[in-house]
Amino acid sequence: MSTVNKDFFKLRVFNEDFQSTGAPGEGWEKAARAPDVLVPTHCSFCGVQCAMYLKVTDGQVTGVEPREYPHNRGCLCPKGVVAYQQQNHPERLRTPLMRRGGKQGKLEPASWEEALGYITEKWKALQAAHGKDAIAMYSGSSMTNEKCYLAGKFARVGLGTRHVDYNGRLCMSSAAGAYSRAFGLDRSPVPMPDIELARCILVVGSNVAECFPVLTQWIWRARDAGASLIVVDPRQTPLARTADLWLPVRPGSDIALLNAMLRVIIHDGLVDEAYVAARTSGWEAVRAEVEAYTPDHAQALTGIPAEKIVAAARLYARAEPSLIMHARGIEHSSHGVNNCLACINLALARGQVGKPGGGTMMLTGQGNGQGGREMGQKANQLPGYRHADNPKDREEVAKRWGIPLEELPQPGAAATEMVKLMADGDIKSCLVMCSNLMVSLPDNAVVARALAKLDPLVVVDFFMSETAEKADVVLPGTVWCEDEGTTTNLEGRCVKINAAAEPPGEARRDWEILCDLATRMGRGKYFGFKTAREIWDEVRTMTSGAPVDYAGASWEKIDAQDGVFWPCPSDDHPGSPRLFTERFANPDGRARFIAVAHAPPAEEPGGSYPLRLTSGRVVYQYLSGTQTRRLGFLNSQAPEPWVEVHPRTAEPLGIKSGERVRVRTPRGAMELKALVTPTIRPDTIFIPFHYGHAQAVNQLTNPAVDPTVKIPEYKACAAKLERLDAPAEANPQPPRINLTPESHPEIFPYEKKPKKPTTEPEKEHA
Ligand code: SF4
Repeated sequence: MSTVNKDFFKLRVFNEDFQSTGAPGEGWEKAARAPDVLVPTHCSFCGVQCAMYLKVTDGQVTGVEPREYPHNRGCLCPKGVVAYQQQNHPERLRTPLMRRGGKQGKLEPASWEEALGYITEKWKALQAAHGKDAIAMYSGSSMTNEKCYLAGKFARVGLGTRHVDYNGRLCMSSAAGAYSRAFGLDRSPVPMPDIELARCILVVGSNVAECFPVLTQWIWRARDAGASLIVVDPRQTPLARTADLWLPVRPGSDIALLNAMLRVIIHDGLVDEAYVAARTSGWEAVRAEVEAYTPDHAQALTGIPAEKIVAAARLYARAEPSLIMHARGIEHSSHGVNNCLACINLALARGQVGKPGGGTMMLTGQGNGQGGREMGQKANQLPGYRHADNPKDREEVAKRWGIPLEELPQPGAAATEMVKLMADGDIKSCLVMCSNLMVSLPDNAVVARALAKLDPLVVVDFFMSETAEKADVVLPGTVWCEDEGTTTNLEGRCVKINAAAEPPGEARRDWEILCDLATRMGRGKYFGFKTAREIWDEVRTMTSGAPVDYAGASWEKIDAQDGVFWPCPSDDHPGSPRLFTERFANPDGRARFIAVAHAPPAEEPGGSYPLRLTSGRVVYQYLSGTQTRRLGFLNSQAPEPWVEVHPRTAEPLGIKSGERVRVRTPRGAMELKALVTPTIRPDTIFIPFHYGHAQAVNQLTNPAVDPTVKIPEYKACAAKLERLDAPAEANPQPPRINLTPESHPEIFPYEKKPKKPTTEPEKEHA
């Protein structure tokens, strides 16, 4: 427990100014008193997982105080400062709700007994009639490791279904696939304090300052020590404004740029030949592949002047050490895995991976984006990155769970593939936990039709999300500070989350809800957990000896040494902050170069759609906005979406900043305000994605996915911008279609049923 920070009063006033909960007088009175207790924990939002204290008065969370920790060094961003306001928010769900009067009826309060009894009776009947796979589980990665683990176990052991996946499919699966293929392990090898050692930082497709504000301090520290900064992004993001070089890449053409940079490095003799020979395989194929990417050819593909490509390559390659950071800008693509592999090829050629301050770093958006994918809630993975289709892994997991091997389901459909199975009636009911499909999945009109076919659609959440509005049963769960457990941040550092308050009303802890449902399904003997600690202890046992090994990461050790980096295989092991210093996780100990070629997005400008639409985040909102759109201060700063458009594009259309306009794609149209700004490519428009209903950009996005990991192509589709009074086009022409459901069925999950469940490259390291 720390003493109260000297700036505490100032901070408290700031918080109370924007307090959106309770009567103001009561809030002031409570906050004005010294807290009864300061609970050490971490932020609920992004993958940085900043440490904080929650101030608790009379059992209520009334404020926040920053906490010193090695990676956030006492800093919090605007989201972290108000995260606590969710706890006592007036819009919290406090009682179960059931839709009465059929699908057109209303959600009305129900008892837990009635709600859980209804769900499990329906599930038993559905499974008796249609088999175990008639029920699906769709969970989230903003939950603790304990909840993520239990979600996977509940699906596979409690329900016996193979259809379990989670919203990390929509954000981290490209990077996960690439790191697994190249390094043999899906984790960033770089701890955050290493960033300041880098002498060149190449940021590809990441709006770091808005999405990971507190991580930016490490970039400033590197800059202060003389590091150069290159930013690759179609928008001049806040970080790009400070860069030595901003490369405004055409959305979807990153491989052409990265391959061309590698070609320059080869021709300049800057490849670390000794490292390549000693620690990698596959180099010659990559060397041959990139030879075609001359700077001029890359200029034609990317829109970036050839001399800038050469300058970027030299700036990057002449620095030692050099670090590449990448995120959704390149990962949300129908070739997302290959985009990440192109970054990895560059870093390997320079001999950087495994060196302090060097290598590649994937920036995880969700709070527990790293841990969430390790725990076994992914379609093809069991706890600890064991594989659902690997006989040895299956045997090991079945034995540790104490179930017959034949009861352990095979891999199921990826999240994006589930939509088709729901629409076709193969999946008849779904339990959605901590996910908002109606905002986060692409082409959401199709998603709405698929969800409408489910009976029952069951949602566990703590606010009424756009998906919960469509549910047959809504179960009130807990916010992060009403439960304890662990998360694993974007470095691979496992941290401890502590409970600061009890759930309000009749709301229950999510893991208790799952245990209760499992018991009612007759599987209670596998779910006898009385505390979150018991779940974590099972995680430690289940992951012992697995690629992700938490066996030695007790809660006490996590507290004592400011987090534990996995692998941590035993009680006396300190954890592993920096990976691949001596060998990679592939069986031969070498990293793999993998040649990748430029490929266009599935859909490009053409016909009646002359522009590229890209989407992304803003600093004041988080994911689908279910939480942040309810927090007064945050929402006041970004209450609705807008479309960013370059003046050269806006002017001929007669569009001015602040004017409402229409954006149209082949899938739909939406109206929103224009923001005319020179900080975006003239051929590209941008819309933030945190909003629902008529404000959801995912009415417009293309559901094409990466063929291996099934991540959607949120970052590039063809679009048209028009004034609201524009006359309707007589004969609208389709955009340029590069990939169709007929030519590439594997990338259109809404059109074709998955022939075989998700086949992800990370299985190769098993
Ligand atoms: Fe929370 Fe991320 Fe902001 Fe830190 S940087 S306070 S983890 S949202």
